[in-house]
Amino acid sequence: MTKVEAETLVGKALVRPHGLVREELAAVVSNTDAEAAEVLRAAAYELKCRHSGKVVSMRGLVELGNVCAKDCFYCGIRRSNVNVDRYRLSVDEVERLAEANARFGYASIVLQGGEVEAEANTEFVEECLRRIRRFDLGVTLSLGEQDEDVYRRWKEAGASRYLLRIETSSSRLYSSLHPPSHSFERRVECLRALRRCGYQVGTGTMSALPGQTPEDLADDILFFAAIDADMIGMGPYIPHPDTPLAAVAGGISAEDRIRVALNMITATRLHLHDVNIAATTALQALAHDGRERGILAGANVMMPNITDVKYRRNYQLYAGKPCLDENASLCRGCLERRLAAIGERVNYGSRGDSPHFFARTAR
Ligand code: SAH
Repeated sequence: MTKVEAETLVGKALVRPHGLVREELAAVVSNTDAEAAEVLRAAAYELKCRHSGKVVSMRGLVELGNVCAKDCFYCGIRRSNVNVDRYRLSVDEVERLAEANARFGYASIVLQGGEVEAEANTEFVEECLRRIRRFDLGVTLSLGEQDEDVYRRWKEAGASRYLLRIETSSSRLYSSLHPPSHSFERRVECLRALRRCGYQVGTGTMSALPGQTPEDLADDILFFAAIDADMIGMGPYIPHPDTPLAAVAGGISAEDRIRVALNMITATRLHLHDVNIAATTALQALAHDGRERGILAGANVMMPNITDVKYRRNYQLYAGKPCLDENASLCRGCLERRLAAIGERVNYGSRGDSPHFFARTAR
């Protein structure tokens, strides 16, 4: 794309949300021209500032456990990976982490983990939610596909947001990344169920996947729009050596993976305007300043890991996970400095709810 083409496109995108068509989104996502990239990025950052200011909302990320029933071809904690020591935190540990999270001034928390559909697990999560209520945090769950009544029980126990990435909106690509027992349709149905339960609903996809085209990525953004998502968590796919997909992942460079992931953030912000978008850890895994670049490309949320260092090694979804030996208080100082360097600051004490959620529930 040329700089002039980028300026024309941005002119359309800034006027109103949903202003771009598939070809334009595909052009943003696949752009490699540095001058055009700067025009697009600056407009996405302007929209980010318009809707959430020059601040970044934090959610401490708790990796609740790595036991998983799924066997996704790309994921390091897939059921078939026997090189992983499986763990699950205790309710006491979760309570302690939530307390630390509140002490850090992070007003939101994410409980993420492998996918387990069992009554004992449902009750464990309910118990965690009840215990951490007293810290008055915004609570996001990211625990995969569940029946609607489970989502409802967790909502009643105190969760207000749920993150369930569709991974890719292309059902063709989805089947090439998962065993036949994993259903694209069920995942979409789960997103609808989460909406019915009244959650702020997050979804997202991976970019730089083998076989993925710019049009597939454009369709991902149109999918976010179609399900009217409140929050988006996206990141580059990063091969994990103990997974089947690593063998076919091919030689995409780290810089190319970062570029397409940042382009996705920019295109999503230009198209959706008021959603929360996370600058995810996978970006940081590829470049030390990956998350800050995510913010400058239009993201407004970060999810610093607050899980105890002793567990982090067992929750490696991809190779090169950063900060394996850094505890959460170290991370906090590091983040403050990194954000100050780009003229942003931490949105301490605010839950940082999705502006889009309030806009859509008010209409
Ligand atoms: N079990 C939960 C959370 C899974 S882990 C769920 O199903 O929603 C969170 C995310 O990590 C996944 O949704 C996936 O998009 C991402 N992920 C997994 N393996 C990855 C890899 N190799 N590279 C980049 N991201 C990966």
